[in-house]
Amino acid sequence: MFRDSVRRFIAQEVLPNEPKWQEQKHVDREFWLKAGEAGLLCTDIPAEDGGLGADFRYEVVLSEELGYARSTSWGRAVHNILAQYISRHGTAEQKERYLPRMASGELIGAIAMTEPDAGSDLQSIRSSAIREGDHYVLNGAKTFITNGCIAGLVGVVCKTDPGERARGMSILLVETDGTQGFKVGKQLEKMGMRGQDAAELFFDNVRVPADNLLGNEEGRGFFQLMADLPYERMMIMVRAQAAMESALELTVEHCKDRSVFGEKLIDKQNTRFKLAEVKTAVTIGRVFLDHCITSFAAGELDGTLAAVGKLWLANQQNEVVAECLQLFGGYGYIMEYPIAQAYVDARVQTIYGGSNEVMKELIARTL
Ligand SMILES: Cc1cc2nc3c(=O)[nH]c(=O)nc-3n(C[C@H](O)[C@H](O)[C@H](O)COP(=O)(O)OP(=O)(O)OC[C@H]3O[C@@H](n4cnc5c(N)ncnc54)[C@H](O)[C@@H]3O)c2cc1C
Repeated sequence: MFRDSVRRFIAQEVLPNEPKWQEQKHVDREFWLKAGEAGLLCTDIPAEDGGLGADFRYEVVLSEELGYARSTSWGRAVHNILAQYISRHGTAEQKERYLPRMASGELIGAIAMTEPDAGSDLQSIRSSAIREGDHYVLNGAKTFITNGCIAGLVGVVCKTDPGERARGMSILLVETDGTQGFKVGKQLEKMGMRGQDAAELFFDNVRVPADNLLGNEEGRGFFQLMADLPYERMMIMVRAQAAMESALELTVEHCKDRSVFGEKLIDKQNTRFKLAEVKTAVTIGRVFLDHCITSFAAGELDGTLAAVGKLWLANQQNEVVAECLQLFGGYGYIMEYPIAQAYVDARVQTIYGGSNEVMKELIARTL
């Protein structure tokens, strides 16, 4: 029933708006209110914190359905991940202040970790928040921030002790509305996912109440982030699998329809073998992903398996979509064909959420 209602919501509220969102490079704020009204935000945040009180599989359904619809504009994953951080690590007051408004869509969330000079090497960030009385004074620059230009609440990863690496890091919850010294910079021109905004953010002597330090304890930021990284990786895996399933369906349809040299493209041995390989990858991916989803929902997925899954599924997605695109011939290169869109959208999956090289490092450490 939930899947049906998500599907209807996507058909009515998401897909008709995609061209506009891609043109303006961000989703409308009012759309988030509609999603909140429909009960589609913060689904796996406990009801006592203001969420829907369902489990992680509800988020999976949402993400899968968006993947099947090949819609990438709605930056709901980072919004939900910020809500997760607040729900798990925030004080009672922080939960009360932010989570109900994040669930209603009134407050859109973003997470700002990456800086122009620090991405994978997160511990070398330079943004600093120095305590002055009952405030922190925040200075720094962030880049590639999803929802950056529409977010009302940004979880800013910064150093409360700039002399330290991991132990000096904290997460400050920064309200952006009318905040002096906060500036949204360029909206970045992305290769794919063009309706999802990715922005530069600048903090110039921004005064943030000390009560907005996540969990009210300095130096916990890195450990708070690490605890929830498998969540982000799971969301990337779900999108990867949905994209592969959708690419296979599109391609089989095309190959059954298209004729070459007097016969259907699907009847050529190369096509049949390629699609058989794709179906094999998609089937193995589904079994593996379902195992990870079940383990994650039960609180049993270890970080290494999340890294293995993110590495493998993001790679598979890129390989599968590229193979499928080839079977479209020239049409595969034309953006009005969904397979072309799927190709450019796939590319970032091996880069963000911890790059695939970082995943290999994490996995290799356990050998
Ligand atoms: C569309 C998009 C959305 C994003 N959204 C967000 C967001 O909402 N919030 C946010 O904070 N960030 C976001 N990011 C940033 C993203 O997380 C970073 O781009 C990513 O972590 C990589 O960092 P970097 O770009 O600085 O690359 P670098 O860290 O400079 O890496 C460059 C290359 O070096 C490789 N490399 C790095 N370390 C090692 C190593 N130890 N061994 C071998 N190779 C290595 C990398 O894998 C990569 O290939 C987003 C990025 C994009 C493109």
